[in-house]
Amino acid sequence: MSLAQRVASARATMGDVDALALSVGADLPYFTGYTAMHLERLTMLVLRRDGGATLVVPELEAPRVVPHPDVFTIRPWSETEDPVGIVAGLLAGTRRVAIGDQTWATFLLQLQERLPDTVFTLASEITAGLRMRKDADEVALLRAAGAAADRVAGMLTAERFSGRTERQISRLIADLLVAEGHDTADFAIVAAGPNGASPHHEPSDRVIETGDAVVCDFGGSYQGYHSDTTRMFVAGAPPEGFAEAFEVLRVAQDLAVAAVEPGVTAESVDRVARGVIADAGYGDYFIHRTGHGIGLDVHEHPYIVEGNPTILEPGMTFSIEPGIYLPGRFGMRIEDIVAVTDTGVERLNHSPRDLVVVG
Ligand code: ZN
Ligand code: ZN
Ligand code: ZN
Repeated sequence: MSLAQRVASARATMGDVDALALSVGADLPYFTGYTAMHLERLTMLVLRRDGGATLVVPELEAPRVVPHPDVFTIRPWSETEDPVGIVAGLLAGTRRVAIGDQTWATFLLQLQERLPDTVFTLASEITAGLRMRKDADEVALLRAAGAAADRVAGMLTAERFSGRTERQISRLIADLLVAEGHDTADFAIVAAGPNGASPHHEPSDRVIETGDAVVCDFGGSYQGYHSDTTRMFVAGAPPEGFAEAFEVLRVAQDLAVAAVEPGVTAESVDRVARGVIADAGYGDYFIHRTGHGIGLDVHEHPYIVEGNPTILEPGMTFSIEPGIYLPGRFGMRIEDIVAVTDTGVERLNHSPRDLVVVG
């Protein structure tokens, strides 16, 4: 789908919202192809329902904007101009404006002061529904990102883990992600032994020992779209109690993936994974949702979580990543990205999900 088609879709779904005002965050590149740096200078796309879209951008950033004159006009502002005033002018006459969820509070507060009669709502109420339904080109990019991450997972099976620190393995993973075609490696969680019980553990100088189970959860940006996969490694023989729990986790992940098809709810997929883990007695140790949408953001809609009645549709892409975390002992997670197809589900990760024994 072209940028112009995306803008047209947004206009068609805006309802009583007079304008979208999008700053930092992934909504902006979704409509413009341009990613703004998270800086104090204001960048904002003002997309009015009645026509007209203007990208207000710092003059020094303007050279990075690829022009799409059929989609938006570029309005660079110089260092001595007032960008909030420019945006307020573009929003003149609006009653309802949907502002990007991650817009800096300082800009929203200034806009509210200048437009006292305008009600501000969240842009995600409009953009989440659009961005959630990926077209074939977007799914193809996620598939390529997943394949690159899978190659990294494959290379890790030949590595020696014991005697190296979590941080060293993490750096290795990040380098491999870039070598395999990612533009950036955004995260490489390496959590050994008891550290694995903290799902988002920050890789440390802890030396991996024989008998440590190691959670490796990594991903990055690939032509704007993201990879995110988790595989489990063990240096030597797994710790006491690990194998039994891991078998439960494998079944939970497999059945949750198999439960994905058009027409079912996001929360029903979470229930499948959670049910298997709870039935085996580990319910209290699965302490996060089953998954998150993925695309231009690593975490986006739809969230695979109890309480989310979103009906899955073809083109939706998200992670299935149940985990079991036993404090003080070990943790484990298996994560694949999947895409909802016309008839069921496609996994976008294909590296083996078995426990990988390394040195
Ligand atoms: Zn996570
Ligand atoms: Zn992950
Ligand atoms: Zn994830």
